[in-house]
Amino acid sequence: MAAEFKTPEYRPFPTVPEMQPGAMSHLKPFVASEAVQTNIGFPGKLEEGWEGRAIDKMGELLGKYRSLKVFMDSCVHCGACTDKCHYFIGTNDPNNMPVARQELMRSVYRRYFTLPGKIFPKLVGAKDLTKDVLDQWYSYYWQCSECRRCSVFCPYGIDTAEVTMAARTIMDHIGQGQKYSNEILGKVHKIGNNLGLPGPALFNTLEGLEEDVKEDTGVDVRFPMDVKGAEVLLVTPSADFFAEPHIDSLIGYAKVFHAAGVSWTLSSYASEAGNFGLFNGSYEMMRKVAMRIRTAALELGVKRIIVGECGHAWRVAYAFWNTLAGIGAGANDPFAIELQKQLDPNCKQPTHICEYTWDLIQQGRLKFDKEANDHRIITFHDSCNVARGSRMGDSPGGQFEIPRNIIRAVANKYYDMSPETIREVTFCCGGGGGVLTDDLLELRVKGAFPRMEALNRLKEDHGVNFMATICAICKAQFTKVLPYYGFKMNNVGGVHQLVSTAIVLGNEH
Ligand code: SF4
Ligand code: SF4
Repeated sequence: MAAEFKTPEYRPFPTVPEMQPGAMSHLKPFVASEAVQTNIGFPGKLEEGWEGRAIDKMGELLGKYRSLKVFMDSCVHCGACTDKCHYFIGTNDPNNMPVARQELMRSVYRRYFTLPGKIFPKLVGAKDLTKDVLDQWYSYYWQCSECRRCSVFCPYGIDTAEVTMAARTIMDHIGQGQKYSNEILGKVHKIGNNLGLPGPALFNTLEGLEEDVKEDTGVDVRFPMDVKGAEVLLVTPSADFFAEPHIDSLIGYAKVFHAAGVSWTLSSYASEAGNFGLFNGSYEMMRKVAMRIRTAALELGVKRIIVGECGHAWRVAYAFWNTLAGIGAGANDPFAIELQKQLDPNCKQPTHICEYTWDLIQQGRLKFDKEANDHRIITFHDSCNVARGSRMGDSPGGQFEIPRNIIRAVANKYYDMSPETIREVTFCCGGGGGVLTDDLLELRVKGAFPRMEALNRLKEDHGVNFMATICAICKAQFTKVLPYYGFKMNNVGGVHQLVSTAIVLGNEH
């Protein structure tokens, strides 16, 4: 494996890393081309006067989002967040300390939006927004996965992810967008999914899956697409249609619906649960992506919307769909009202696939052969956006318990990783928040370090060989970085991959 950087080495006991100023200052993702930028309504490139436009946009965001203003004003530099970011732990670069990342924007905020900063900039650490400062923003705001781990430790609840989102929004609006994320947004708007897979390719994949499952199990498990009048619309990350190990979870969802005898469908128009509008901090973009799902739900006449294994998609669905697109409750335009009348009021709208499967398990409607998973010694990686940005079920902490309950229902061998690395303080996989691109591979490998350390401890203590997760980005990220740390690519997979292995369909598995 060719790598031009050094993979961090496991430590006997995790310690606060030594600082190496500027260690990651060389790393920047590719800037979006003019075509990519203008395709989604942003200026094509930096043009004269960008500084003024950036400050205007910052002022607009400060006026619109009170939290951002509070975050700019309230840090007391207590240091509680400094060693909590996986990117600081993995890269040693002090600019990857959450407080330093915030400071990149806060120093500019002071200069233009506070009286002392306007009068005595040097005294209060206020800075002009110069090209050098913008370059630092571009580098370090794209070295944050918006995972929100730091905010759990901040006594004021300052959320660096929101600061990062604001910085990215400002950069998009002056023509300094990131290629990877903005290209993906363009594909969703045009084709309906992040991967740009057209409808016929999706149909072919699903037909192929039906044949594969029939061959494996002898059972006719359907993978329906665009079926009007189906009870359930499943919206899932497009990686589930073709990537490994994602596709195994898609097979798991289909087997669950089959075993429960429920009619369901996918939509070729809304063939993406992921929503990169969140990563760019653009609520307008987030809404536009979410509206495709509302349109599909109305056209197909479904009674229920279920979301597949995708961390940030579930956060957007759980926290934003209602007010942004009227899925759930909250919006009151005619289409939202029509959708509310159409959806079943007895079901949670939207529902996570894990909530759905766990409900069926509790009702005794699914049967499992747990021994079928005996070759796996399993742990569970809590994905940031599920752990810290959403919930599942009816009790606090449901987002932690429900996936673990499912795993224990379908497999015999399960161990949790160290408590300081899971649940609400889980470490990011290192590839979330719009950094899952090969131009940021060094960041991704180094950012995965704390999670790899925790996994390695379980491997040494209990022989753990399978890390389950419910996020498409985590699956793609770990598949890529596990080999850097001495694991195999297939040591990661989905919760519904485990369900798929153990579920009993009639007399077959
Ligand atoms: S949100 Fe996550 S990635 Fe960003 S600074 Fe905080 S801990 Fe680091
Ligand atoms: S924990 Fe909060 S208050 Fe303390 S330095 Fe970090 S952001 Fe500032």
